[in-house]
Amino acid sequence: MIADPVALARDLIRCPSVPPAEGGALALIERVLKDAGFAVHRVTFTEPGTDPVENLYARIGTDAPHLMFAGHTDVVPPGDETKWTHAPFASEIEKGVLYGRGAVDMKGSIACKLAATLDYIGEHEGKPNGSISFLITGDEEGIAVNGTVKLLTWAAERGEKFDHCILGEPTNPEKLGDMIKIGRRGSQNGTLIVTGTQGHVAYPELADNPVRGIVALIAAINAQPLDNGTAHFGASNLEFTSVDVGNKTVNVIPAEARARFNIRFNDTRTREELRAEVEKRAAKAAGNAIRWHIDWEPSNADVFLTAPGPFVDMIQKAVAEITGIKPVLSTTGGTSDARFIRNYCPVIEFGLLSQQMHKIDEHVATADLVALTAIYRKILERYFA
Ligand SMILES: [Zn+2]
Repeated sequence: MIADPVALARDLIRCPSVPPAEGGALALIERVLKDAGFAVHRVTFTEPGTDPVENLYARIGTDAPHLMFAGHTDVVPPGDETKWTHAPFASEIEKGVLYGRGAVDMKGSIACKLAATLDYIGEHEGKPNGSISFLITGDEEGIAVNGTVKLLTWAAERGEKFDHCILGEPTNPEKLGDMIKIGRRGSQNGTLIVTGTQGHVAYPELADNPVRGIVALIAAINAQPLDNGTAHFGASNLEFTSVDVGNKTVNVIPAEARARFNIRFNDTRTREELRAEVEKRAAKAAGNAIRWHIDWEPSNADVFLTAPGPFVDMIQKAVAEITGIKPVLSTTGGTSDARFIRNYCPVIEFGLLSQQMHKIDEHVATADLVALTAIYRKILERYFA
């Protein structure tokens, strides 16, 4: 069976799957995988106050080892379509470049995984020496509550057990082969609130300006780095993202000042310990002079690392053999669904180029689709050898 990743990517891009719409993308994958002998499940999840979203789980084989290909078919909205030189869902190819929303994030890589899988099982009497599954959500780019988390729970309740996962998010900064993601930093949002006493600017002795206090606390919190990083992670970092008093006047000392911040943290830290450290710095600088507190937001973005070992080595080699580049093992960037998958099995991320994600005129070189298919194909060969 010869599967063409470019044709599959074009067909997927033509499905306008802006969440909650499935847009025909999951139906297409269902058809392709059913024809190849997969047992396919379309699963719709709902939650009060959200739109129902369709997801897909498909498996071929019953034995271990079990390799999961994970991804999402939903795409971010195209924005102002008149700014696109190629209509976002027209899937046009010009000079070896395929244009369309989702080209790199991440219909392109799903097409490559499908093509590689069809090719692999076609050459192995219709089934793998183990199991292959596709766990594809339609709710990653949206509010992401009816997607991967629920699909993983659903699969676990059915007794599905996974040995390894490859998530196809765009990972390469410059060229295909640059980078494999083997972990992600944790994320924690907070708001620092300093309370003062409102008053007239001409009578400061009757007021207590919280702006002075918040400036001092921000400086104290940022005075020292949180840590120096680890073998696989950069330093944990706290970044203030806004400072507000919401004051529309020029003659009133405000009653309260707020500063929002985000912490990205590495695998030497825990959320609890970081919260304690930030509060300790604030408390020390505040003494009895500044009234303050921090509101911490709930978060499900914990740090994780898939430690280098045989699985990561095998993938690194497969990438190098096809592209001629030895990919860097990285933990940079924002969070992804890998943070949920890692609770079920080791997960790495390798996909297309990251530059074009969410942009106008999102595009991918068709040569990259062919090469990524060859990489996934090699991974399948080695994984089930
Ligand atoms: Zn994505």
